[in-house]
This record gives sequence, structure tokens and C-alpha cells, in this order.
Amino acid sequence: MPFRTLGLDAKILQAVSEAGYTEPTPIQLAAIPPIIAGHDLIGIAQTGTGKTAAFTLPLLTKLAAAGSAAGPSRRTRVLVLAPTRELVLQIEENIRAYAKHLPLTVATVFGGVGEHPQIRALQYGTEIIIACPGRLLDLMSRRHGNFSGLQFLVLDEADRMLDMGFLPSIRKIIHALPKQRQTLLFSATLSKEIEALTHEFQHAPKTIQIGRRANPAETVTQFVYEVPKHLKPALLQHLLADPKMEMVLVFSRMKHAADRIARQLEQKGVRCATLHSNRSQNQRLRALKDFKSGAVRVLVATDIAARGIDVDGISHVINYDFPMHVEDYIHRIGRTGRANAIGDAISFVTPEDNGELRALERFIGRGIVRKRAEGFNYAAAGQPQPDDDRRGRHQQRPPQRPQQRPQHGHASAQRPARSGGGPQQGGSGNVRPAAAPARGPQRSFNRW
Ligand code: AMP
Repeated sequence: MPFRTLGLDAKILQAVSEAGYTEPTPIQLAAIPPIIAGHDLIGIAQTGTGKTAAFTLPLLTKLAAAGSAAGPSRRTRVLVLAPTRELVLQIEENIRAYAKHLPLTVATVFGGVGEHPQIRALQYGTEIIIACPGRLLDLMSRRHGNFSGLQFLVLDEADRMLDMGFLPSIRKIIHALPKQRQTLLFSATLSKEIEALTHEFQHAPKTIQIGRRANPAETVTQFVYEVPKHLKPALLQHLLADPKMEMVLVFSRMKHAADRIARQLEQKGVRCATLHSNRSQNQRLRALKDFKSGAVRVLVATDIAARGIDVDGISHVINYDFPMHVEDYIHRIGRTGRANAIGDAISFVTPEDNGELRALERFIGRGIVRKRAEGFNYAAAGQPQPDDDRRGRHQQRPPQRPQQRPQHGHASAQRPARSGGGPQQGGSGNVRPAAAPARGPQRSFNRW
């Protein structure tokens, strides 16, 4: 079904076509009509499904229909709350692209950068504000911003905002907003806490769910390398010797580990950048820019910083440190295979990670294929590695039990040529030549 049947504004349709989208994704098909009709909405969808456009396109249509006030009578009409500054910037980029033919004003609000431009944007009555809850509440408590004309509230990645402890700030922000408004909530998972939030802040919401809840993107091939901890740096370097690994996102648990991994790679001549919360906002933006442009081939990131990264063409995600929570795994691997491009997700698993790996396999209802790296010397002595995995386990969020039962029978939905059946302990497979997607967006949604 083409976009033009969904009731979107003509100028938005033009921008969508200029973005290269030929047809709506399933979440866009499901979400756009009820949002235009004025319903509150709960969208359960994993990352990479096109959910930003699913809420942005109808909201822009409604703003365009109501017309824009000029000058000082402007008031903020849309507020989008999102967990991280990277996601806020990502949403802003999308909104600016879709609204490029409309006279709407857009601004972002998040911590770690100077507050004056943000205060000016709030005072000016910018029509669309995309914000992280912490900084926004700080500014609102100092009486900045005029939300008396607010019509639309979006809570994006609500599950992650709750995980990050933003609930009290979100409550205070929402209590300061008009009660008459349309509220949209998006989350990768539907937990009891999310349900409680929707009861508190939404009115008769419609729920749409795309795919299985928390289902790893189906275009991503997942496999595991079992490796002793001291060989992880050597294995990473070995894998990166394959030129088909052209755009690689490496995840570590700890910030200092991300720096160390990047240093070791640089010493071996691999150009890389790091993304974690100890880096300044400018450094983070620079790292993303260099990664997107291909100036660096590898980006080493921690989970929080990488949330919301939307970079087309990531060929491989490597979990250098196995994630502690299944939600993190799903978000990490969702960084590749976006918009139905293909990608590989590789996890290094040490003996200490076996419990987490099994929990993940139970959660996704299938085993993940074990591989051995061809030509890699597993008998080599490596440098002893600091025990930051263990420290990470204690310093970060307490482990959560997956909130859902695994749903079986899904294996057939994965690409058959690239996944095996169940786990092959100590598997004999070799490193398969990685499929290297062409750089740049691949915008075919035919298989959805
Ligand atoms: P999101 O889930 O919002 O992070 O979007 C994932 C990616 O899909 C982004 O790169 C979008 O630009 C892209 N995208 C969104 N909608 C479409 C569409 N209808 N056709 C092609 N690509 C899309």
C-alpha cells in the first residue's frame, strides 16, 4: 500500500519520497491512521522498524493541518521524550527531513552541552521539542518553556527510559502538561511497568505490536565465538583482518574497556573511534560523524551511548563483552540489519558468560550458532585482560529476569541460509565470508 493512501499531508509525502522511501513499513501502516484519527497509541516495536517516521509523519500532518502561528504567539505543540542524547539527535534529524517543506520550528534539549540555546528555544516557543527528561525537567523547574498549548506527547523507548531511572522526572514533566493531549508511547517490550505508565498517562490507547516482542531483527545473522578472555583482543584483530568487515560496531561493557579496545586496534593500524558517556558531546558527535562517513572503520561503544544510533550500512556488530541483559543484546544487534539491510551480529563468549548466553537463547527461543575463527590460533598465549567484565556485572544495573516467556518455532523466520538449528557446542563451522552490504541505505521493505 503506498504512502499516499494513509492520509498524510502532501508536503510530507514529498519529503518522504525525497528520503527514498517507496512504501510504508508495517509499523507505519499500522500506526499512521489511528494517530491521524486522534487516538492515543502504544507501539510495541523493536528498533530499526521505521517507528520514528511512524509517529512523526502523522504528527506533522496534524500540525500542518492546524497551521503555524507566527512570532511570539508560538507555543510548543509537540514534546518527544527519549532516553539518550544520541536518540534525541536522531529523532531531530528525522523530523527535520520529514518537515523540510513545512514552516515548523524544531529544537533539542539534553544535558552535557550549554543550556542557553535550549533556554532560548524554549522561550521562543519552538513548536517541536525533543528532549531527554533530566535536562528538560531541570529547565522546566526554572520556569523555562511554555507547554500550555501542548497537543502531542511522545514517549520513545519508554522501556529504556524506565530502566535508566527517568520515571520520576517523566511523571513531573507530564504533570506540568495539559491533560487534553494525544499521547503516544513506544517501547521494545511491554512490561508491567510500561502498562502502569500507559494507564497513568494515556486515554483509551490502541495497541499495535509489530513482530514478536523483543524479537531480534530478522535480517541479522547471529553467531557466537567461544573464546577465553585473554584472547579476545587477538580474536577481534583477527576478524578485522577480513576486509568484508567494512563498518563495524564493537560493544564493550565499560567505558575504560572501550578506550582500551580502541587503543589496541589503533596500535594495529585499525582506524577507530569511541562512543561512551565519558566523552564530551562534541567528541561523541565527531565519532558518529567519522563512523558514518567511513573515516573510521570501527566504532567502539558502550550500551547507553549507543542507544538510538541509526547508521545505515553497519556490516557487523561485535559484542566484545557479552551483554548482561537480553534487552541490551536486542538493541545492540538492531544497530545492524536496519531498514532490512543485512548484517551480522557476532558475540564473544567466555566461560563466565555462559549463563547469560543460555538466558538469551531461552528468551529468543532458539540457539545461536557457535563458530570457530578460521586460521585463529586458539592455543596462543594472550596478554592477561583486566577483569572489567566482572566489575561491569556489579557496577551496572542489577540483572533483570526477562519479562517474557520465550516463543518457540521462530527459527524458521531467520534467514535459512545463514543460521543453523540449535547450538553446536564447540562448533566446527568456519568463519563464513561475511555478506558485505553496500554502503548507504537499503530501502527495500518487500520482505516485511
Ligand atoms: P527507526 O526504526 O525509526 O530507527 O528507522 C530505521 C531506519 O529505517 C531509518 O534509517 C529510517 O530512515 C528508515 N526508514 C523509515 N521508514 C522507512 C520506509 N518507509 N522505507 C525505507 N526506509 C525507512
